[in-house]
Amino acid sequence: MPFKQLGLSEEILRSIQKHGFTAPTPIQDLAIPQIFDGTDLLVEAQTGSGKTACFAWPILQQLAAQKSGGKKVIQALILTPTRELALQVSAALSQFGEFLCKKVSALTVIGGESIAQQTQTLAAGVDIVVATPGRLLDLIGQQILSLAHLKFFVLDEADKILDLGFAAELELILEKIPDTRQNLFFSATYPSKVLEIAKRISKNPVPLKIDDMAPTVDTISQRVILVNKEKRGMLLRHLIKAECWRDGLVFVSSKIAAHNLCGKLRKAGINADALHGDLSQPERNKALANFKTKKTHFLVATDVAARGIDIEKLSLVINYDLPRSPADYIHRIGRTGRAGETGLAISFIGLEDQEHFKLIEKRAKIRLDREEIAGFELLGDIPEKVRGLPPIKGKRKSKKDRARELKRT
Ligand code: AMP
Repeated sequence: MPFKQLGLSEEILRSIQKHGFTAPTPIQDLAIPQIFDGTDLLVEAQTGSGKTACFAWPILQQLAAQKSGGKKVIQALILTPTRELALQVSAALSQFGEFLCKKVSALTVIGGESIAQQTQTLAAGVDIVVATPGRLLDLIGQQILSLAHLKFFVLDEADKILDLGFAAELELILEKIPDTRQNLFFSATYPSKVLEIAKRISKNPVPLKIDDMAPTVDTISQRVILVNKEKRGMLLRHLIKAECWRDGLVFVSSKIAAHNLCGKLRKAGINADALHGDLSQPERNKALANFKTKKTHFLVATDVAARGIDIEKLSLVINYDLPRSPADYIHRIGRTGRAGETGLAISFIGLEDQEHFKLIEKRAKIRLDREEIAGFELLGDIPEKVRGLPPIKGKRKSKKDRARELKRT
């Protein structure tokens, strides 16, 4: 369907043209007319599917069409799991709203940035708030921010918000918003926790999914390289040189691993930077900005810091450490091959990762050939399968511990 038939205004169409988008993505085709109809939606959309524009265009258009007068009140709340994603959504809103005759203002409400500045902007009045849960609740608690006039509530990457242990915060936020609003859920997966909240707070939400959508994006080619854990650093440096990789996003499982690997790459003369939760927000913003503008060629990041970030023309993603869940694998590789581009995702698999990677393949409905690189062949025996053993009492991590662990990355 051409963009015009989705009900988008001339002003939004101008911005679409400026971005060079030629046709709506499948999820935009399906969701945008329903968002204009005021329907509550549960959209199953991967990162890279064009989901931000999907909610941004109709919200901007409807807010711009309102009569002006009086102080602005917050009419749309977009809740995201990470600060980076919040900043990215805000940037998209400002780009997509460039040609609106009536300006629609958006404020990013995230921790790690000046609360005074956010308070000042709120006092002057804003239309849209893009927020992470913690700082938002802080400002609501101090009665600096009110959601009493909210019309649109968007939960972006809903599965990750709950995975990160924000369920209690989400409940508190939900208590503060009026009942009559449009709820738009965007999530790569719909585990029962997300469905339960969605069904409780929405009026007959309509699930939207692209038929036959493979769990992994088909414009991405995926390679699996067998290598012992201790050889991964050397292999990565070797491949960067041997295969002439110009840039890539390298995923690791902890802050310390991000820091260490980045140091090793730099020592080898590779232009690398790290992105993880131990850095201050300005440092995180800078690392991301430098990577986006290609000042930095390799970014070594933890999952949480890199969640949902959109980097134009990212051609390579490396799973140096495997993600914990199959859903995270899909999210990670979704950073490349975005909106029709082609991309390459490489996973390093050691002796201990064999079973885990099989599970990822099963869930992602893929089966990938294993490769070995000369000089880095996998040595040793695969440890015996431990799956199926009962948990050892007292050793199993509680939900809270797991959430804390994730927060630390
Ligand atoms: P998202 O899934 O929101 O992270 O978007 C992924 C990328 O797709 C972003 O760089 C968008 O600017 C881009 N995009 C959004 N809509 C379209 C479209 N209709 N055609 C091509 N690219 C798009």
